[in-house]
Amino acid sequence: MSTLLFRSTNGQSPAINLREAFLAGQAPDRGLYLPERFPHITPAEIAEFAGLPYRQVAFRVLRKFTDGVIQDDALAVMCDQAYDFGVPLEVIQRGVYLMRLDQGPTASFKDFAVQMMAQMFARFLQEVGGQVTILTATSGDTGAAVAHAFHEVPGVRVIVLFPLAEVSESQRKLMTTLKENVRTVAVDGKFDDCQAMVKRAFADPALEHIHLSSANSINIGRLLPQSVYYFYAASRLAWPGQPMVFSIPSGNFGDMMGAVVAREMGLPVRKIIAPVNDNDSFPRYLASGSYEKVSPSRNSVSNAMNVGHPSNLARLVAVYGGHMDETGKIHRPPDLVAMRRDIFSSSITDERTRTSLREFWNKYQILLEPHGVVAWQGFLDWCAVEPLGNTPAVIVETANPAKFPEEVEKVVGWAPDVPAAMTAGLQMPEDYDRMGADYEQFRAYLLARHAGN
Ligand SMILES: *Cc1c(COP(=O)(O)O)cnc(C)c1O
Repeated sequence: MSTLLFRSTNGQSPAINLREAFLAGQAPDRGLYLPERFPHITPAEIAEFAGLPYRQVAFRVLRKFTDGVIQDDALAVMCDQAYDFGVPLEVIQRGVYLMRLDQGPTASFKDFAVQMMAQMFARFLQEVGGQVTILTATSGDTGAAVAHAFHEVPGVRVIVLFPLAEVSESQRKLMTTLKENVRTVAVDGKFDDCQAMVKRAFADPALEHIHLSSANSINIGRLLPQSVYYFYAASRLAWPGQPMVFSIPSGNFGDMMGAVVAREMGLPVRKIIAPVNDNDSFPRYLASGSYEKVSPSRNSVSNAMNVGHPSNLARLVAVYGGHMDETGKIHRPPDLVAMRRDIFSSSITDERTRTSLREFWNKYQILLEPHGVVAWQGFLDWCAVEPLGNTPAVIVETANPAKFPEEVEKVVGWAPDVPAAMTAGLQMPEDYDRMGADYEQFRAYLLARHAGN
């Protein structure tokens, strides 16, 4: 099998291998990388996953992408090191399951991708030499996951930008209490401002001497590990070849693109449900066929999904044969009929989020948090238009309720227990820098931090 190449969604940059695409983050033409073909996994292989622990399922899926770039024995070790936590699948009601992706070191699903990325960065940097600075804009959870995964990884510096007023206290503490090679910057602005500053830095000739890379969901290395848990769930909950439904709470659409990748690889999926909060550019696009970003992005209780213009839509549009550039302009429309057949989306207001969280607790005695409950409510919205029948359905819970104690307590009346993995970090002293949503100031900051480098 020849080495898989990755192409930019903007089509202007040369196709490159996984190592190169990974280290670059965004393509030079500002597009996002996608594999030029999707490797295939057969129903028989998926059936075998049923007997394997998560880390071995990850190995079997990821090796389809790393062939020729990472040796199998090395990849197996990387998967063992990245995934030393569980993936609980709980029954909500007959045929409907909750997949908890909140057992990693920072208690959100971001740990799945970012733990693997740290393994890959460490390995690729060893091969090519040099230093890299990972710039990350976060709406709350990515920053913490990145800070923890890359803490003390040799050759890597991390700079995390977050909107000061938009993250919860626990989210903030999980990223500002690490030091050494990790710096956090609180921006007086929105997540979109942070993301725009990061994007400008990547395109800034004045910063060319600094090797910048990204752990945001623009990086293909973030996407691929997020396809694994859909295979894992299917191997345990569906008969071989039986299609499933997944409901995935969406912001930047990296998690749902993981499901799209899994389906392109052969996972039988009946419907991907991708509900959003008040940032409803995607459901409006699905309905109308004309794309308009939400600008500025809207605040909501599911703050990790406050994304007005999800960058992964460029990838989704590409998978369906279209071309959307990085600004959201559509140059060639995708096959919308197919997209609507495969994907459902609805927008869940804060009010519905809170009501649904309370009702879910009362009905099932299972505590969700503001993101997972958006997945639940979106699933109910879909069930109202298309009966589920005997299709197994998985609701994806993307964070631990203890990350949002204030919000959860307001709704159900008591504060959730904090998992042991989180408590240590929450007690350490915080340390972070502050700045306005001002690119010039950010550039000066980067230059000062890399003086003599
Ligand atoms: C990041 C995040 C999301 C949204 O995931 P995307 O890949 O950006 O769509 C949902 N829930 C939580 C808890 C998150 O941290």
